[in-house]
Amino acid sequence: MEYGECPMASATALQPREVTHVQTKYRRIVTPIPVPDSVPILESLRKHEPLSMGGQPPVLWDRAEGICVYDRWGNQWLDWSSGVLVANAGHSHPTVKQAALDQINHGLMHNYCFPSEVRGRLIEELAGVAPEGLDKVFLLTTGSEATECAIKLMRQHGRTVGDRNKITIVSFVNGFHGRTMGSQMAGGWPGQKEWIVNLDPAMVQVPFPDGFRQTDTSFDVFLKSLEQAGVKPEQVAGVMLETYQGGSAKLAPVPYMKQLRQWCDKHDAVLTFDEVQAGFGRTGKYWAFEHYGIQADLICCGKGISSGLPLSAVIGRAHLLDQFPPGSMTSTHTGNPVCAAAALASVRAIKHDGLVENARKIGEVLATELGRLKQRFNGPIGAADALGAVATLQMVKPGTTEPDNTLAAKVVMGCIERGLLMFAPVGTGGGTVKIAPPLITPPDALREGVAVLEESLEEAIQ
Ligand code: PMP
Repeated sequence: MEYGECPMASATALQPREVTHVQTKYRRIVTPIPVPDSVPILESLRKHEPLSMGGQPPVLWDRAEGICVYDRWGNQWLDWSSGVLVANAGHSHPTVKQAALDQINHGLMHNYCFPSEVRGRLIEELAGVAPEGLDKVFLLTTGSEATECAIKLMRQHGRTVGDRNKITIVSFVNGFHGRTMGSQMAGGWPGQKEWIVNLDPAMVQVPFPDGFRQTDTSFDVFLKSLEQAGVKPEQVAGVMLETYQGGSAKLAPVPYMKQLRQWCDKHDAVLTFDEVQAGFGRTGKYWAFEHYGIQADLICCGKGISSGLPLSAVIGRAHLLDQFPPGSMTSTHTGNPVCAAAALASVRAIKHDGLVENARKIGEVLATELGRLKQRFNGPIGAADALGAVATLQMVKPGTTEPDNTLAAKVVMGCIERGLLMFAPVGTGGGTVKIAPPLITPPDALREGVAVLEESLEEAIQ
C-alpha cells in the first residue's frame, strides 16, 4: 500500500480486547487479543524496530505446523497467510524440516566458492521443473535480489543486441518487485520511491490490465503508454511483470499477454515474470504464467520456493544468464546449504504431494464462495477474485472503486480474533483483504475459513 495512513496500526493498538472464545479442530482462541502477556514483547518490537515493521495484526507466534499457527498462550489460528505466501508446502513440512536439520547436523559452510552436493541437486531439480528452454538457474537469497538480477540481465542483453539506448525496463503501475533501489524503481508505486529522488528515466511503468481499476485491457494501452513516455520499441531492453499483481488475484487478459509476448519477440526485448509470489503451484499451475499459454525468458522466484527459508532464484535462458563472465555475477550466500536442502525438499513435496492440483481445487472453492460473499455484501466488496490458493477481496466505498482501508483492516482483525490468521490488508490504498492458505489446506478447513471470513464481514459491514 502507499505510504500514509495505516488503519491496521490503529486497529492493532496493543490494548487487549475480550473476545468470544473459540474451539474447533483448526482454531482455538482462549485469551483476549492481543494476549496480555505478549504485549511487552510486541511493545519492545515497536520500540526497537523501525516503524515500517509495524501495522500487522498483534499475533506473537510460537510454532507453526501444517495449516495452523500457535502461540504460547493456548491460541491456535487456521492459517490464511502462509507466512506471507511462503509456506506453500505448509508450515514445518516434515521433509523440509528434516532436510534442514540433517544439513545442520551434517555440517555448515557457505556455498559459493566451493559448491556442495546439495547446491548441485537443487539446481538440477529447479532446472527440471523449469519450462523447456529455461535451462540456467542462479540461486540468491531474497526476492528483491532476484528482480534486481533480472533487471541487470535484461539491460545487459539490450546493450548487446541494440545500441546504447536499448536499456529501458518496462514494468507496471501498482507492481511490486521489492524494496532495494532497482527493484523499487521497477515497482509501480510512486510514493514508495520518492526517496530515490534521481529516478532512472529508462524505467517506465504502464497500466496493468486488471479489468477493475484499469478498465481498458487492450494491448493498445501498452503501446500508447510507451509512446506517451517517449519510449520507442527499439529502446526497450525488457518487460517485467508480476504474473498477477499482489493487490488483486487478477490475471491480465490472455490476448493481451499473447500480444505482449509477440511484441517482445519482435523487438528483441526480454520478458520477465516476477513469480516470487506466484510460483511453485500457488495459483493452481506450477508457474502462474502458464495461465497465459506463453513462454517466459526469465523467471524470478522466492517465497514458496523453500516453504520457509530464505532462498530465491532467477531461472532463464542460457544466453541471458551467461552474459557475465566468471566471478562477475555472484552472491555470497548463493544456495546456502540449509536453505538449499529445505528448498529441495519443498520442491519435491510440491510435486509428490500433488500440491499444484490441490491449489487449483482450493481456487475453485474460493472463487465460488468469494463470489457468493460479493453478491451478499455487494457494495463494500468491489472485486472478489481467486486464482488457486491466492484470493483477494477489494473493499471499496460502495458504488466506487475507491479503496476502503478502514473496512479492510476491520475484516482482517475480526478474522484474527476468531482464529483465522491473515496479514494486514495490501494493494491500492490498503483496501485488499488477501487470502493465501498453504497449498495443503483440505476442504473442511477451507470452508471453515470461509465461514469465519463471512462472520467477520457481517460484523465489519453492519
Ligand atoms: N516480487 C514480488 C512479486 C513480491 O511479492 C515480493 C515480496 N512481497 C518481492 C518481489 C520481494 O521479495 P523479498 O521481500 O524477498 O525481497
